[in-house]
Amino acid sequence: MIVQANIVEVFSSIQGEGKYVGYRQVFVRFSGCNLKCKYCDTLVSHAPYKYCMTEKDAGLRQFIQLKNPVPVALLAEHINHLLLTPHHSISFTGGEPLYRADFIHALAAHLDCKLFLETNGTLVGELAKVIDDIAIISMDIKLPSITGKELWNEHRDFLMLARQKELYIKLVVSAETTWEEFHKAIDLIKDIDSSIPFIIQPVTPVNGCNACSADDVLQYQKCALEVLQDVRVIPQTHKMIGQM
Ligand code: SF4
Repeated sequence: MIVQANIVEVFSSIQGEGKYVGYRQVFVRFSGCNLKCKYCDTLVSHAPYKYCMTEKDAGLRQFIQLKNPVPVALLAEHINHLLLTPHHSISFTGGEPLYRADFIHALAAHLDCKLFLETNGTLVGELAKVIDDIAIISMDIKLPSITGKELWNEHRDFLMLARQKELYIKLVVSAETTWEEFHKAIDLIKDIDSSIPFIIQPVTPVNGCNACSADDVLQYQKCALEVLQDVRVIPQTHKMIGQM
């Protein structure tokens, strides 16, 4: 069993995206991802990091360096120290945290707090290793215009397994989004379970990825509401208020 992993950073902050926006979480950001999305704001975290920047006390923004790869027991100790301040949950993010599913499973045994997974929704075999440990899954649907790949089958398999937990789906829309792929995404969800909460997230422009118009956002929501029961539009809020 893998008991160490390359971690980018560990810190306390406010969830800025999706259904749990505004909740206080400890974030554990893993390096590495199987995709390269145009709008990725953490592409830099795809390569291994020499050190993991770990917040000393929750929200004080003073960091110590832990040498990577970090052993499970040492990481758990630091996370549990941050949890002396009340938090809603621990968010595993990245990169793609399911790249380190064995590590997450081992880490879960040391933590007494709800575990929240932020994932690109493509690695179903890895999800199976941690599904019993995770309380809430925030799954992205990644569109071909953003990844350069068709991932519909991967997303379908992932959804079928993930729906046994509390689950919501996020989809980032940008000027590059096409109606054809948007329809495919909402039909995929509808065919599995139309009651899964669906969050449309207008892109925060980055790396030449442009925002879609305000009119388009309204049309995307209208179109999704015709087939899904719970559809919201929520932008990235942590960037508006200067949070990590
Ligand atoms: S899946 Fe997430 S971490 Fe990976 S490239 Fe896309 S946005 Fe970045």
